[in-house]
Amino acid sequence: MPSTPLVRNRKTAYLAQLGRCYYCGLPMWEDDLAAFCRAHKIKPTQAQRLKCTAEHLEARQDGGLDTAQNIVAACVTCNQRRHKRKQAPVPDAYLHLVQKRVRAGRWHCATLLSAFGALLAGHDSPAQSST
Ligand SMILES: [Zn+2]
Repeated sequence: MPSTPLVRNRKTAYLAQLGRCYYCGLPMWEDDLAAFCRAHKIKPTQAQRLKCTAEHLEARQDGGLDTAQNIVAACVTCNQRRHKRKQAPVPDAYLHLVQKRVRAGRWHCATLLSAFGALLAGHDSPAQSST
């Protein structure tokens, strides 16, 4: 399989982000849908929405390039919803919007949010020390 700069930068971003979506923070899968479903006990139809994609911070239509600086890893849901708009929101504004919706339970379906809810709760609050 040919490896383009876009694919290489996506993989690098995926690893740097510990496999989490840049916007919603949910875990993503790259190649192995079945393993991802087994690991998280979710259905393939649900997991499809968390496929890892290369997200251009500066949209391609605005001249954004396939460079490491311009590529982050985002789930297909967050990626498509951002670029479905006529003018894609700037990354910071979109990040803020997505996180607000995730907290309100109005982003991914309830099944996905509950499957990863504990994980997300631990995402923005540091672990408490018991001593
Ligand atoms: Zn996402």
